[in-house]
Amino acid sequence: MNDLARSRATAPELTPAAAFRGPLVLEAQGISKGFRLSRGLRADFLWAVREVSFGLYRSATVALVGESGSGKSTLARVLAGQERPTSGHILLEGREVRPSSPRQFRTYKRDVQMVFQDPFASLNPVHTVSYHLARPWRIHHPRQSGASVRAGLEQLMTRAQLAPPGFYLDKYPHELSGGQRQRVAIARALAAEPRVLLADEPVSMLDVSIRLEVMGLLDDLRSRLQLAVLYITHDIASARYFSDEILVMYAGQIVERGPSEGLTQRPAHPYTQLLVASAPDPQNPMGSGGGAARLQPSAGGDAPAEGCQFSHRCPYSDQQCRTQTPALLPISSSRAASCWHLDVAAPELLGAGLRGRVQP
Ligand code: SF4
Repeated sequence: MNDLARSRATAPELTPAAAFRGPLVLEAQGISKGFRLSRGLRADFLWAVREVSFGLYRSATVALVGESGSGKSTLARVLAGQERPTSGHILLEGREVRPSSPRQFRTYKRDVQMVFQDPFASLNPVHTVSYHLARPWRIHHPRQSGASVRAGLEQLMTRAQLAPPGFYLDKYPHELSGGQRQRVAIARALAAEPRVLLADEPVSMLDVSIRLEVMGLLDDLRSRLQLAVLYITHDIASARYFSDEILVMYAGQIVERGPSEGLTQRPAHPYTQLLVASAPDPQNPMGSGGGAARLQPSAGGDAPAEGCQFSHRCPYSDQQCRTQTPALLPISSSRAASCWHLDVAAPELLGAGLRGRVQP
C-alpha cells in the first residue's frame, strides 16, 4: 500500500449520495458470484461479481454502469433472487434474506421486482396484456376477483401511462410498439407493489425517440411510489441524468462510486474517465479531449490474472498495478475509487479533496 492509499484507508466512512433521499431499503454486502467452467478435464472458476457492496434507498435511483460482460446483469439477477450468491449477504430493510426460508424468500421476491432489457422477449406472444398483469395481481391480491381485479389492472395501466387502459388490456404483445410493451412490463412489475425496482438496461432496445419517455416514467414512479431503483446501463450519460449515485463496474468489481453529477464531471478512476470520454454528451468537457486524450479504449491483451483488472488497458499501469489489487477506498465523504495512482490519473480531484482533508 502506498502513502496515498494508506491515508485514504484512514478516511471516514462513505456517505452514499442516494442516502439523502430516504432510508436504506436493500443492502448488498460483499456479494460475489462465480460460475464453474469445465474445460476438458480441467474445471475453472469464473468470477462474474466480486465483493460488491452498496445500498438502495427509498425514493432514490442508483445507477450501475459498465460495459457488456462487466457483471451488471449477473448482480441484478442475484439481487432479484434468480441466482444465489456464491458469498455475501443481501439485507432487505435490515433483515438478511435467506433463500432457505421459502416464506421469507417469497416476500422478498414480491418486494424486489425486475424490469428486463428486452420488452419483446419478456411478454408471452400468445397472451393478452390483461393476462400478463392479472397473474401477478391475483397472487398479490388473493381476495380480489372480477370487477375489482379489472379496476386494479386499469390502475396499473394508468400508472404506466398507457391510456385509455381498456384499449390496451385486451391487446396482444405483437399489437404494441416496443415502448408500449416496456410500459406493460413495468406495469407488471408494479402489480406486486414492490419496494425495490431493478431495471436492467430498460431502454437500450427501444427507439431513441421513446427512451427519454420511458426513463421519465421510471423516474416519476420512483418519486410517486417512493421506490428504491437500481438502474443498470452501459450509458453513463443517461445515468448522470436519472440517478442520484453512480456505481461504475468493471470486471465484476465496483471501481468507482459517487454522486452522479460530481462523478461524471470529474471522473477519478481511469476506466470511468474512459466511459465519460466515450459518452455522447456535448456538455461534458471530458468528451472533447481532457483526460480522454490520455486513454486508449482497448490496448488489447487479456485481463490479468492478478492485480488491477484494468491494468492491461490503463496508460498509468505499472508493476504495482499488475501484481496488487487496489481496494475501493474513499476519496471524499461521498466518493470512492479503486486505483493505486489517483494522484497521477486525477490529480486535480485529489488536490481539491483528499489531500486537504486526510492529510492535515
Ligand atoms: Fe490504472 Fe493502476 Fe489505477 Fe489500475 S490501479 S486503474 S492499472 S493506475
